[in-house]
Amino acid sequence: MKLTDLTLTELRDALRRGETSSVEATQAVLDRIDAVDPAVKSYLTLTPENALADAAAADKRRAAGDDSPLLGVPVGVKDIICTKGVQTTAGSKILEGFVPPYDAFVVEQLKKTGAVILGKTNTDEFAMGSSTENSAYMTTSNPWDVTRVPGGSSGGSAAAVSAQLGYAALGSDTGGSVRQPASFCGVVGIRPTYGRMSRWGVIAYASSLDQVGCFGRTVADTTAIFQATAGHDPHDSTSLSVAVPDYEAALTGDIKGLRVGVPKEYFVEGLNPETEKAVRAAIAQLADLGAEIVEISLPHTEYALPVYYLIAPAEASANLARYEGTRFGPRVTGDDMISTVKKTRALFGEEVQRRIMLGTYALSAGYYDAYYGRALKARTLIKNDFKKAFEQVDVIASPTTPTTAFKIGDKTDDPLSMYLNDIFTVSLNLSASCGLSVPCGFDAAGLPIGLQLIGDTLQEATILNAAYAYESATQFYKQTPNIKL
Ligand code: GLN
Repeated sequence: MKLTDLTLTELRDALRRGETSSVEATQAVLDRIDAVDPAVKSYLTLTPENALADAAAADKRRAAGDDSPLLGVPVGVKDIICTKGVQTTAGSKILEGFVPPYDAFVVEQLKKTGAVILGKTNTDEFAMGSSTENSAYMTTSNPWDVTRVPGGSSGGSAAAVSAQLGYAALGSDTGGSVRQPASFCGVVGIRPTYGRMSRWGVIAYASSLDQVGCFGRTVADTTAIFQATAGHDPHDSTSLSVAVPDYEAALTGDIKGLRVGVPKEYFVEGLNPETEKAVRAAIAQLADLGAEIVEISLPHTEYALPVYYLIAPAEASANLARYEGTRFGPRVTGDDMISTVKKTRALFGEEVQRRIMLGTYALSAGYYDAYYGRALKARTLIKNDFKKAFEQVDVIASPTTPTTAFKIGDKTDDPLSMYLNDIFTVSLNLSASCGLSVPCGFDAAGLPIGLQLIGDTLQEATILNAAYAYESATQFYKQTPNIKL
């Protein structure tokens, strides 16, 4: 067995037993990146020298008796998360050359717990997108079929984990950007409750929705990196001051009596029949494992997409106002101030410009109440749907995405069809829930399908354990992509 074939928890055990070293594991991953990443294109920036130095330091720490949770484990970090001394672009030309002077809280946590950071993974520009095609630098390929997208916006992280180019990775999820690519790439991805992870040092897209999330090949791997990075951070006023439970200990695999709700609004026209079949089979599997299946209703689901695509661009238009060319990124000089700002902001890609215009319009005097104001009211209705549902059930099960991974280029000319991809993921961000995607089979073309499990506020342990029970019974993670180089 190759070192890169190990899951994170297997590598951790091997390191603990002294069967391998972090330097060996890191070198094995770097070699695989050299061989495979020209086809997958998951990393925007690689930092092999830092990684090998950190691996050597981890081996020293271990020799001195340290057994920190991620000690010596090589991981990837989405390029929307600031890394001290390492270029962080958010997938945008407007941040080309930006080298943050500090680490994001979650990166500090990775370092504290001993992880080795391999580099920065590709993302749609400012995390706006569902395919990584909006990255200003390159489009990442899906390891299961390199002519298809890996999903987005954290497509680089999902593809890297799927292709075994890192044992786990961090992403961010504003409307599905962890769960959707996890589903497309056949890996596990969790989007914790808003406030569970610090947003300090995470480049803002839509501040009331943004949340860091984690990827792993297995539920246990995902839990390990989540455990290491979750927690309160006084620098982020929206970070919850709530103790981090022992998520790893919560993975018992026992889900007897767990009430699983199946929302009828999530099994509608547009849902691919193969996806529906796999997800229904997964729900039946949960029942076999002792869960009680309950049909539920989330009646305001139809408003979720329009509400999300008003609120997210509105917040984005405010957040992105700071990029006027004087503080970050390349300096562009025009004839006067107006032309300088115009030239600078022309560095934004088409989708980002579209969202700034949509958001500015929705917030403008005379339209504010009609658009943004109404969207906020509808958001409350969606939140209440989940509140009511969680009085009846512990977990909600649904497809993560309506289809499997689409072809690169298929949706780039039609933003609306791209947005429709997020139909099952955005509601959770608008509410106060948490959610994950776990592999639940393959379509006829061999592309992965994801099961979404949604939990109530701060109930990450419940959804992780449900996913763990399901994964133990099915073991889809044992199938890995055969990447055509
Ligand atoms: N696809 C959604 C969007 O484009 C979600 C992105 C995200 O979660 N960052 O906004």
